[in-house]
Amino acid sequence: MSALVFGHKNPDTDSVCAAIALADLKKKLGEDCAPAIQGELNPESTFVLGKFGVAAPSVVTSYAGKDVYLVDHSDLTQSPDDLAEANILGIVDHHKLGDVTTSQPIECWIWPVGCTCTVIASMYKYLGVEIPKDIAGIMLCAILSDTVIFKSATCTDQDKQICATLSEICGESDLEMLGIEMFKVKSAVEGTPIRELVFRDYKDFNMGGKGVGIGQLELVDLSIVDGIKADLEKDIKDLKAEKGHHSVFLMLTDIMKEGTELLVASDDESVVEQAFGVAPVDGKAWLDNVMSRKKQIVPNFEKIFG
Ligand code: MG
Ligand code: MG
Ligand code: MG
Repeated sequence: MSALVFGHKNPDTDSVCAAIALADLKKKLGEDCAPAIQGELNPESTFVLGKFGVAAPSVVTSYAGKDVYLVDHSDLTQSPDDLAEANILGIVDHHKLGDVTTSQPIECWIWPVGCTCTVIASMYKYLGVEIPKDIAGIMLCAILSDTVIFKSATCTDQDKQICATLSEICGESDLEMLGIEMFKVKSAVEGTPIRELVFRDYKDFNMGGKGVGIGQLELVDLSIVDGIKADLEKDIKDLKAEKGHHSVFLMLTDIMKEGTELLVASDDESVVEQAFGVAPVDGKAWLDNVMSRKKQIVPNFEKIFG
């Protein structure tokens, strides 16, 4: 039975491409490995896999009794519900260390860089395995996506250096253009149900014992959501009630203006002012220069929620 490699729930492009790449690397090292995803591909990931002719991993939601590698997360809230019954062989990630624990020693590659694929591309180099052209292409896109075309506070020199190598291998030389092409696909909201948009890039957190949900839509222009903003605001209020959360936030991130309009549904709206120094007006706050959930939104809220 193959070991399965998978990323977080509501898979983003990094979770999908990192699973594919790590499974490829492991196979070349002689391990029986296959990629998986915990949910359907989002439009951006569909575009990326299509562009480089890479098959989508199968959707797997139960991992009991299986050997597994985790990529792009180590938080239980983002893992499969039956992870405790799986045998974790390793973790490759670029987030804060989460609360996943194991009973055996594991292989661990967790680096403070902008994307899991930066770590995996470095693993190929370190282990002396050649990166295939199609895998180079999808890893390049994952890095451009996670680092918002190198603009995010999470982006490091390592991410840029790895992208230069990957772009040579896959033959994509205009990274800005490739990135914007991808973010245009990501920005499309027309015809998509509101809840699907809220969940497109959504994560639940436990902050000081309180449930906090944070979603993000990365947009090439905020005006794209003008017509549906009221529906989004209503939906995060509904979602907060359904989950029994303290707060649900939706980040509407303008990647060109490099800031985020935060939509707020909370038992205590003042947490936003405490965390960012901006009081929400009508459940909305503009946060200049804030683009990263991982490096800006989550740590600031964690300080306040304690
Ligand atoms: Mg991710
Ligand atoms: Mg990532
Ligand atoms: Mg992301």
